[in-house]
Amino acid sequence: MNIDFNKNSDGLVPAIIQDTKTRKVLMLGYMNEEAFLKTNETKKVTFYSRTKQRLWTKGEESGNFLNLVNIKLDCDNDTLLVEVDPEGPVCHKGTDTCWAEENTVEYGFLSKLEGIITNRQKLSETEPELRKENENSYVTSLFDKGINKIAQKVGEEAVETVIEAKDDNDDLFLNESADLLFHYLILLKAKGFGLKDIVKVLEERH
Ligand code: AMP
Ligand code: ZN
Ligand code: ZN
Ligand code: ZN
Repeated sequence: MNIDFNKNSDGLVPAIIQDTKTRKVLMLGYMNEEAFLKTNETKKVTFYSRTKQRLWTKGEESGNFLNLVNIKLDCDNDTLLVEVDPEGPVCHKGTDTCWAEENTVEYGFLSKLEGIITNRQKLSETEPELRKENENSYVTSLFDKGINKIAQKVGEEAVETVIEAKDDNDDLFLNESADLLFHYLILLKAKGFGLKDIVKVLEERH
């Protein structure tokens, strides 16, 4: 790996630390050549700490080591992307990432939708007369009706999806598929689960 350690006069290159599984950025540190070599040798991420002015193996006090998975060099050889498997919270303030985020997998818009569904479920748990916002939320009314009704809706949408799969109207098929996925997310939530739980089962089978 031909890293350009001399671009900065201090011989340091930024090392972006990314969780190999969740793909979240966990922290940013700096490496000199010695830190880079030590990281590869020990498989525990080691930086050059500008504060301590010495090599610093992340986790040396806390035990929250960053286990090395892979290192990639950027387009002009001056920045490292370090894929890791972290042993604990990465930030010294105790949070998973240095940006106070949870280190969990995100499924883009589907995760956003799961969040909205969770809020609608909470609304369903408050007394109807105390509800202010989203009073006529369809999702809240489904949670009000309970698991059996939600499961039945999933069944109906599944049947509709099957029917449209046999036709060749793509638009109808995609719409029924979306209905199915949407109601399935609600059913998962009603059972106390989310997409990540299903992905875990699939991963374990893999
Ligand atoms: P650790 O390397 O996790 O044992 O932590 C040792 C010390 O390094 C802490 O007391 C902090 O001063 C510093 N430190 C740990 N984690 C971070 C971080 N993510 N970003 C900046 N400084 C950190
Ligand atoms: Zn660059
Ligand atoms: Zn931090
Ligand atoms: Zn439908």
